[in-house]
Amino acid sequence: MTRGNDPTNPAGPNTQLVRAGYDPFDYHGFINPPKVHASTVLFPDAQTMDRNGQKYTYATRGTPTTDALCDAINELEGAAGTILVPSGLAAVTTALLAYLSRGDHALIVDSVYGNVRQFCDTMLSRFGVDVEYYDPSIGRDIEALFRANTKLVHTEAPGSNTFEMQDIPAIVEVAHRHDAIVTMDNTWATALFFRPLDAGVDVSIQASTKYPAGHADVLMGTISANAKHWPTLKRANGALGFCGTPDDAYQVLRGLRTMGVRLERHQASSLAVAKWLEGRNDVVRVLYPALESFPGHALWRRDFKGAGGVFSFVLAAGRGEDFKLKAERFLDGLSLFGLGYSWGGYQSLALRVDLSDRRIAQVPTEGPVIRLQIGLEDVEDLIADLERAFAISSTV
Ligand SMILES: *Cc1c(COP(=O)(O)O)cnc(C)c1O
Repeated sequence: MTRGNDPTNPAGPNTQLVRAGYDPFDYHGFINPPKVHASTVLFPDAQTMDRNGQKYTYATRGTPTTDALCDAINELEGAAGTILVPSGLAAVTTALLAYLSRGDHALIVDSVYGNVRQFCDTMLSRFGVDVEYYDPSIGRDIEALFRANTKLVHTEAPGSNTFEMQDIPAIVEVAHRHDAIVTMDNTWATALFFRPLDAGVDVSIQASTKYPAGHADVLMGTISANAKHWPTLKRANGALGFCGTPDDAYQVLRGLRTMGVRLERHQASSLAVAKWLEGRNDVVRVLYPALESFPGHALWRRDFKGAGGVFSFVLAAGRGEDFKLKAERFLDGLSLFGLGYSWGGYQSLALRVDLSDRRIAQVPTEGPVIRLQIGLEDVEDLIADLERAFAISSTV
């Protein structure tokens, strides 16, 4: 054991982020792990090969580099095991594939990440899984939707683009009474601000593309399971052959080391911008769980230790004004905020949210919904940039 890795004295989250997953003295004292590029792993003799008698057998089953990341994620999530997949989207779809079979009923939150809905409505349905969307604010009333064949409840809190909070402990309690598995996409909060498995969730999913990688240059997803559900996940991983590359695993582990300080800045700047937006006449509402005015604020306060740096607001529109044009004028008025998908990187981003696929959840109708990712720039500069865009969008 190296100095500071004393399991009887659990470290704070930032200390964990600095040390988790790798012991430098496992590799000559080098402070970062080696990047092992591999498919084949050699066995010293035929007998060892016959017995599968060594830690590494083939690189789809893990390498020292991918293991370093998986071990770090296990520690941060409090998980029995973690698998790496090539994107955050693949993390959600792989989890659903791992646990659902033909004839099962799956409850999916209506504010789910949009591409997951696409997967559910096409592939999952094609494979004979009965998919039903539920209101993110349902809480323990989800019980009314349970059937004899309900196998899985997929949660995401806050929800994509509209940021509805969910009562995760209440949903877990109901689901477990009905022997259903609860999966959670926890990309917004990361394990730093919410630990799904501690709240009873069975499978915690993270788009590592976002805050763990942190620099808009890597795609990766992680799926972490509790002890009961880890064997099924590991088998599914082996059967599907999805794996993370050593380069990406290395980059994500490197990102994790600074994720705590980055998140602190994302959070502080987001709160400052959200409060500034809230005070404006040209903003109808700000959709951010960290704001007291937000309907899910009490749940966020109760369960989460902090807030991610992405949120939305409803831009005020005049009577009869075209929402899309209004949003385009606003977005084109921005210069520091880039127009682009994803978030979690260092640069601020903005886009117009399309909520036309929502079926159950109430969505804002007063004006166009703009989503912001607040990056690591100086917050005064971001506010000045937004101020200019508001001025441009108000003059036709
Ligand atoms: C971005 C995102 C994903 C998908 O991650 P990718 O790596 O871009 O595929 C999944 N879930 C949530 C909540 C996300 O924000």
